[in-house]
Amino acid sequence: MKNHSLSGRTALITGSTSGIGLGMAQALANAGANIVLNGLGDRDHIETIRSEMADQYDVSVIYDGANMLEPAAIAAMVKAATKKFGVVDILVNNAGIQYVSAIDDFPEDKWQAIIAINLISNFYTIKAALPAMKTQNWGRIINLASAHGLVASPYKSAYVAAKHGVIGLTKTVALEIAEQQITCNAICPGYVRTPLVEGQISEQMKAHNMSREQVINDIFLVAQPSKRFVEVEELGQIAVFLCSPAACSINGVSLPVEGGWTAK
Ligand code: NAD
Repeated sequence: MKNHSLSGRTALITGSTSGIGLGMAQALANAGANIVLNGLGDRDHIETIRSEMADQYDVSVIYDGANMLEPAAIAAMVKAATKKFGVVDILVNNAGIQYVSAIDDFPEDKWQAIIAINLISNFYTIKAALPAMKTQNWGRIINLASAHGLVASPYKSAYVAAKHGVIGLTKTVALEIAEQQITCNAICPGYVRTPLVEGQISEQMKAHNMSREQVINDIFLVAQPSKRFVEVEELGQIAVFLCSPAACSINGVSLPVEGGWTAK
């Protein structure tokens, strides 16, 4: 059911053409926020997502294709959104990629791309969006870390390093803005069934000659005590909660949403 708790706010969600980012954009739009979509993909498909979201939730939805590998494009995206809406009230740093390999074989270009997209882009979006949040003395920054921001798994060195970095960045920004009505928090999902995870499932099926069900149960959900994937909709509702007045004193936290994975 639509609510209007975020009417008049604008949310920019990086990597929102797919998966968790798209789910968060839908949840924030459902709460009344105007939306800046970002991410890669087929332009016609993205235009369909954009126009359907605007119609369904009766909010303004724009798309900016800034590549999270390009600092100048990131700054230009935030500047354009600020020009159109006055301020980016809610910034969700969600864009991310994954690559799985032993560290001695890890391709250097993949390592650098993961660190750039999953971590460094967050620095550039925050740097660009924070001044207007400070001027109006209100803002919400939500960074998508991961259970892998709290614990490691083998063969994911770049991803684990980037996500631990996101948590460090989150805590530091939280301290810097603590006296204003701005919060900066990280969400740490376990496995969520999105295109990013579907890609990993296919790779593991090939690598280990296993069925889809075996890979899901024996490789993925083995880490997750709940034995089920986290749903995108759950994360959308958490984002809306972190933007609500009830969450105004939640600052600098890394919220595990992983069915108990990191409680072990
Ligand atoms: P996804 O592959 O479905 O979506 C990733 C989004 O990032 C897409 O919109 C894609 O276009 C965008 N993106 C990728 N590279 C980009 C670039 N260079 N510039 C701009 N946009 C780019 O992935 P997802 O599973 O929805 O993951 C979203 C975030 O959640 C990531 O940060 C991921 O690390 C994190 N996460 C995912 C899971 C999971 O199980 N799916 C678990 C924990 C954390």
